[in-house]
Amino acid sequence: MSQIDTLPPLREVIRDHDLQARKSLGQNFLLDLNLTLKVARTAGDLSECTVLEVGPGPGGLTRALLVAGARRVVAVEKDPRCLPALEQIAAHYPGRLEIVQGDALALALPEIAAGGPLKIVANLPYNVGTQLLIDWITGEDWPPVWQSLTLMFQKEVAERIVAPPGSKAYGRLGVLAGWRCHATLAFEVGAKAFTPPPKVTSAIVHLTPRASPLACDLKALEKLTAAAFGQRRKMLRASLKPLAGDAEDRLRSVGTEPTQRAEQLSIEEFVALANAFAKA
Ligand code: SAM
Repeated sequence: MSQIDTLPPLREVIRDHDLQARKSLGQNFLLDLNLTLKVARTAGDLSECTVLEVGPGPGGLTRALLVAGARRVVAVEKDPRCLPALEQIAAHYPGRLEIVQGDALALALPEIAAGGPLKIVANLPYNVGTQLLIDWITGEDWPPVWQSLTLMFQKEVAERIVAPPGSKAYGRLGVLAGWRCHATLAFEVGAKAFTPPPKVTSAIVHLTPRASPLACDLKALEKLTAAAFGQRRKMLRASLKPLAGDAEDRLRSVGTEPTQRAEQLSIEEFVALANAFAKA
């Protein structure tokens, strides 16, 4: 396996800084720097960008982002134990790595994006990953401050993000992501690539914002998809009844058969329906 930089191997970093993985922080570290480089390259040209990395941990992906040419990396880590290891990387790449200790759920993206075009690349902690994605794709302003998201999820979550209508994995996440973004599953990563290995396979998802997504009442879309997929085996006339007594009329008003089930509806139909239900 070829070296990507002259910093110490990650196993040594973890040993020297006593970074035993903590489950409560979703810590499954990637130690193969060639693999983290593959993740970084999935995000495309980084040379003009600020890259936000959530959860750098011992810094395997951080190092790859810097090797891949990121102009500036802002790495937000909740676990203070990781900071000394990250400081070593910052010293190796003067002026290019900013380390922030804190909770990514409380981040102000516009402030980070003020430094130039922003891409987000992360091996996300499983316990907050979906919430972060939803926050990033449901912001009020669109197009968003970020140019792309390149994110590691459990494979099952990745499949839900990119799921097309009619598929088993199609649901709320797929509708939200597909409405506002182009989303692709870039590649899978086996459990053995992580230390400690998780129970499931993971996958990298790459999302770019649609320039002009269909106009939609976001709150209505969230409520609608929650109700429709919450009871996905039921016909829409039944699953949407709790939202509006005249659900059947509203379904017909946008040309949707009330006997259809959630997974049969395209994203365009969900958007039209959300707008019809927003007029309640
Ligand atoms: N990027 C490293 C890698 O690929 O090896 C670590 C990835 S590990 C799956 C997730 C990282 O996110 C851990 O370092 C963990 O401490 C950090 N983390 C967990 N919750 C966080 C939060 N709310 N905000 C920021 N970082 C968090």
